[in-house]
Amino acid sequence: MNAKAEKLAKNWQYDWYGFWYAVERYTGRPFDISEYVDESWLPPDKKKLIEYLKKAPYMMASSNQLEKCSDCDEKINTLVFHSDGVFCWPDNLAHDVDKHYFRLPDRFVNLIRERNYETPPADEVDMENVDWP
Ligand SMILES: [Zn+2]
Repeated sequence: MNAKAEKLAKNWQYDWYGFWYAVERYTGRPFDISEYVDESWLPPDKKKLIEYLKKAPYMMASSNQLEKCSDCDEKINTLVFHSDGVFCWPDNLAHDVDKHYFRLPDRFVNLIRERNYETPPADEVDMENVDWP
């Protein structure tokens, strides 16, 4: 177990996640990957959580150009963003969780489970009021 990642996941107070460049501006502390990556975080519904991240409505797509992930060879989209009306996150978060063991905040996981892994339709997401970092 990674106690630092556990603590961060419990205490994450923002409605955005996965915008690593914004972490220091909001938390006052530099982004420390060891607080986010937890190889022992293996909830039984992890695949369904990742599917939710991928299928939630797009809030913005500023490019459809794929770039190579900085940690592996997979091509990922770094300029596409999702929102489910509560949280917002970049498209590559699903990849980070799936391939690089990033852990999701507890509040986010709880919301996804409460919704039974169903994302809202795009026209029900109020994109104007999303907590964008
Ligand atoms: Zn990767």
